[in-house]
Amino acid sequence: MIKKYLLLTMAAMGCLATAQAAEEFKSPDGNIVVTVDNANGKPTYQVNFGGMTVLQSSPLGLKTNMVDLTQGLTMKACKVDKVTDAYDLMTIKQRHVNYEATEGVCQFEKGPVKMDVIFRVSNRDVAFRYKLYPKPGRGGETLVAVVESEASGFVLPEGTTTFLCPQSKPMGGFARTSPSYETSYTLDEPMGKNGWGEGYTFPCLFKVPVAATKSQPTGQAWVLISETGTDGNYVGCRLLCDNETKVSPLGSAASLVEEPSTLNSQLYRIGFPQQGEMNGWGTTTAAVSLPAETPWRTITIGTTLQNVVETTVPWDLVKPKYKASREYTYGAGSWSWIIGMDPSCNFDEQKRYIDFSAAMGWRTVLIDALWDKQIGYDKMAELSRYAKSKGVGIFLWYNSNGSWNDAPQSPLNKMNRSAARRQEMKWMKDNGILGIKVDFFGGDKQPMMQLYEDILTDANEFGLQVIFHGCTLPRGWERMYPNYVASEAVLASENLHFGQGACDAEARNACTHTFIRNTVGSMDFGGSTLNKHYNADNQRGTTRRTSDVFALATAVLFQSSVQHFALAPNNLTDAPDWAVQFMKDVPTLWDEVKFIDGYPGKYAIIARRSGSQWYIAGINAQEQPVKAKLDLSPFFAKGTAVTVYTDDAQLNGKSQTSNLKSLTFKADIPQNGALLIVANAK
Ligand code: CA
Repeated sequence: MIKKYLLLTMAAMGCLATAQAAEEFKSPDGNIVVTVDNANGKPTYQVNFGGMTVLQSSPLGLKTNMVDLTQGLTMKACKVDKVTDAYDLMTIKQRHVNYEATEGVCQFEKGPVKMDVIFRVSNRDVAFRYKLYPKPGRGGETLVAVVESEASGFVLPEGTTTFLCPQSKPMGGFARTSPSYETSYTLDEPMGKNGWGEGYTFPCLFKVPVAATKSQPTGQAWVLISETGTDGNYVGCRLLCDNETKVSPLGSAASLVEEPSTLNSQLYRIGFPQQGEMNGWGTTTAAVSLPAETPWRTITIGTTLQNVVETTVPWDLVKPKYKASREYTYGAGSWSWIIGMDPSCNFDEQKRYIDFSAAMGWRTVLIDALWDKQIGYDKMAELSRYAKSKGVGIFLWYNSNGSWNDAPQSPLNKMNRSAARRQEMKWMKDNGILGIKVDFFGGDKQPMMQLYEDILTDANEFGLQVIFHGCTLPRGWERMYPNYVASEAVLASENLHFGQGACDAEARNACTHTFIRNTVGSMDFGGSTLNKHYNADNQRGTTRRTSDVFALATAVLFQSSVQHFALAPNNLTDAPDWAVQFMKDVPTLWDEVKFIDGYPGKYAIIARRSGSQWYIAGINAQEQPVKAKLDLSPFFAKGTAVTVYTDDAQLNGKSQTSNLKSLTFKADIPQNGALLIVANAK
């Protein structure tokens, strides 16, 4: 295996050395090298990491209705510059970000049409986007264009395994609401599949084998591919695998390899939405005003999962699109629907949950679907006044429809058009409502991306925060839209209520989201259940398999600036005091995140800092206990009082506070159990 890779690498380097047009950009630390080429008029890029190829020569280019910019191109020049940025963003995993990258702008031409490919190479991420210019003409410039498709691709080397979430077909699932990024990940699968026939939703994680060297001691590279900066100016994209196309980009160099037939590198490429999305309304293509810049394609690379967990690339590459109309606040809240479902959205039960939020010291209560019918607008105004008297604010659920699916839950037809939406938002502002949760969107076409942006923009005018459900992945939105909070775009806690299978797989999925979905955007999971059963009487319904400490740990592992936890009022008396106290105290805003250990779907141990406190959280999905041996020296000083939450083999949890005697900490994490360590930072 190693011999083959050395040969492949030498062959790849040999090719590059003879290619005349090739240009190289290096990350500030020199560890990541991007090589851009235009052999035979077809633009490509390749990514090397610590001297090893993690993306082989991969296609670039756009197909537009002006001209096909994927072939027959001339590469004119590449300008290289250094880019720095420093920004604060309290709603993501890293409050202060110092961004430093090399920018390479490669200029391509085809006839009178110009296109730049803009690269950014930081010490952990590669990103690129296109800039398309107006086309000069005798009768005047062409100032608008249609981007029909992107050639943008990612050729992963042989032996790469995949951690991917299939894209759904349109107009399927509950009330024809798909796709909404709510399918199950496959883990550690070989390349070559195309999901359920429609590729994969972002982000997409790959494990690439590389020869073990001093700089790459793990013998592998983790590569997370995603996109950011998508708004109403483009479509939301996915990753397609052309499984009929086996790529051998090394050309004749392949003959150096002993078994050419096993040269199975694989092209994954950017896919546009499906025609059936949004009930067929709108095209699958992107209409752009020229000059136009496309969203960024992002590639995060590391020898361990550290860079994947800690990357800030979704936000590094975007800018705020408007100013916050007021100072937004963040925190935890309660949510009756996850345990009590639709019938719980009535006045008395919501009053009980407002009291519960107040008892927990939480900031909000989220009132889910059908409140317009089961409570009504006048009584909701009364409920809002009551909540305010208790120091609690209300988030209200809305259906995004519209005409794109059959989801019958109301309020309907309030969020899809500006006039009704603004009237509704004015009512919310007048009645002290804090925010909205808008559900059941219709895919990733451009008009739908515009709707997300319009809802956010209008909501900001009325001082409302926004959570999306049944929706697409956020793509840098925490920074682009100051009142944006989080999106579902995951198989979230509702599935724990709907089926025992999801409860049985809860730990596996939580160990997956920590390393994939949640690394690129705030995730509205609605978890941390302390009920044994997903039912208001806590007797029937699906059964939670995970421990109480596990429930607490996911409040740290899952990041969102506003968390509506699945605790219920009965937990004040039937859950352990230490668990309730933890949930009262756990922050939702974090200053820093550190990867400690883990593997997608198996176990996850990370640390988050909030102010002066570090929270270390670990969970385990595997049958065998994780024998954690943690080096606490980056986090705590010896002698510090630490509170440790552990599970025994039967998942009985306990919490203990003592002074830290050793900076090497050992504990077993049983299957479906967890470990939590909380203390002041050193
Ligand atoms: Ca959902």
